Amino acid sequence: MKRVLLKLSGEALAGEKHTGFDEPTVARVAGQVKQLVDAGTQVGVVIGGGNFWRGRSSENIDRTKADQIGMLATVMNCIYVSEIFRSAGMKTQIFTPFSCGAFTELFSKDRVNECFEKGMVTFFAGGTGHPYFSTDTTTVLRAVEIEAEVILLAKSIDGVYDSDPKTNPEAVKYDEITIQEVIDRRLGVVDLAASILCMENKMPMLVFGLNEENSIVNTVSGNFSGTK
Ligand code: UDP
Repeated sequence: MKRVLLKLSGEALAGEKHTGFDEPTVARVAGQVKQLVDAGTQVGVVIGGGNFWRGRSSENIDRTKADQIGMLATVMNCIYVSEIFRSAGMKTQIFTPFSCGAFTELFSKDRVNECFEKGMVTFFAGGTGHPYFSTDTTTVLRAVEIEAEVILLAKSIDGVYDSDPKTNPEAVKYDEITIQEVIDRRLGVVDLAASILCMENKMPMLVFGLNEENSIVNTVSGNFSGTK
């Protein structure tokens, strides 16, 4: 694959701790992304913020402000992961849709392309820059903008199921499913706004378990066992 967009949830960075960062978990991701970059794949990354904060979970403060905190949480996550990637030998650049001074660079498709040409991993932090959106929406938006071939959706479970496998032992995993079915069956793979953007722009998505060994590399090299 020439260019992919990898989405990691905030919780995925936290490992068993469920909050903050778990360095061995992030180092494992870094090792896999390095293999992809070394093989010539251009990798963009979007990271959620759930290991620190979720805008809608706060009842006592204004939603717009709560979402701003959520967007800043994703910036912290990208700075952290970018540094771990650098320590694994990769070159990186973090883009945000709003100014963060010298911490990041304002998102521009041209600058992203320049970075990709230099073999850098690009991070898309700060979500869309707008409240009431999510990093799912950001993922599809950036994937479409940078003309990624596919979205790699790394989850805590190993694909899309017809019901929650944590509560229903009879839950069945899909090998393939359309976004329309995801919407109709309310499977919540990504939120509705992101699903519709994905469908309208015919952006393919591969859903797989981040905790499965070597799952990112396997997914890109065609040894895929998640849901298409
Ligand atoms: N967020 C936002 N706009 C965006 C992206 C994220 O307001 O474009 C905020 C929102 O508060 C969200 C938080 O950042 O709850 C973390 O993002 P994530 O997508 O991880 O949140 P989730 O959908 O898991 O709540």
